[in-house]
Amino acid sequence: MQPKDPKIIVEGVKSTLENNAIDFETIINNLGQVEASKKRNDRIQFTINDHLRALILAMLSVQRPWKPIMENMDKIDEIFYFYDPNRLEKADSESLITEIKAIKCGNRSINYQMKHLSDNIKQLQKIELEYGSLDNFVMNNPPEKVAKMLHSSNSEYELKGIGPALAMEYLKSVGIASVKPDLHIIRICGPGRLDIIPEKNAEKQFTAFKEFAKKANLTSTYLDNLFWIFGAKNFGEICSINPKCEICELKEYCNYI
Ligand code: SF4
Repeated sequence: MQPKDPKIIVEGVKSTLENNAIDFETIINNLGQVEASKKRNDRIQFTINDHLRALILAMLSVQRPWKPIMENMDKIDEIFYFYDPNRLEKADSESLITEIKAIKCGNRSINYQMKHLSDNIKQLQKIELEYGSLDNFVMNNPPEKVAKMLHSSNSEYELKGIGPALAMEYLKSVGIASVKPDLHIIRICGPGRLDIIPEKNAEKQFTAFKEFAKKANLTSTYLDNLFWIFGAKNFGEICSINPKCEICELKEYCNYI
């Protein structure tokens, strides 16, 4: 196996996607997280509605394909009252569950997520009050630490139904450059395939991924999105659970074959 130059790996991913007619730049634009990073760099403020939207979309992404959610974004915005915290806090959780299932955007945790949505909104409001704004809170510490404050059971800011990967997904959507160490990313970038990050230990995964992104001259968010597209169902679907190695240009850098 060849040693890994991050720029060559990234070029291999891009070129494999291009050769299979996957317009990854448009998909990355539509995902909105790289755009959110640019807004954050331009010091554009994110409202509590923006934060709530990011949190709800992260929750909806749990263990399911993203495409139906992307295609139903307008309906989702309406179902969640355009993320108005005051209206949403009083919303009937059963109605939310029914409406989200009706557009086939539910997931195996949707009942728990909707039943605890008002608790999570109260937590966001508490954070806003204590830190002056949710932006201050997410920018005050490194993303790994902020994520821990949101998912750790001994944190006063713990959000219900949010683990490390979802906390990172939320942070990326409010413009914090980061990586979501979900199944796709760990599978593609772990020791069994491209061997960029270790299989276990979230902290070491974040550090290795960030260093790789830096060497590739990319933000963590862009690289995270690119690798995600490379594996995700209905998107690149190349380095997926049953990888299509025969059309992949990274064979000589990969431990899978
Ligand atoms: S597992 Fe196959 S598809 Fe995935 S990076 Fe390796 S060679 Fe490419």
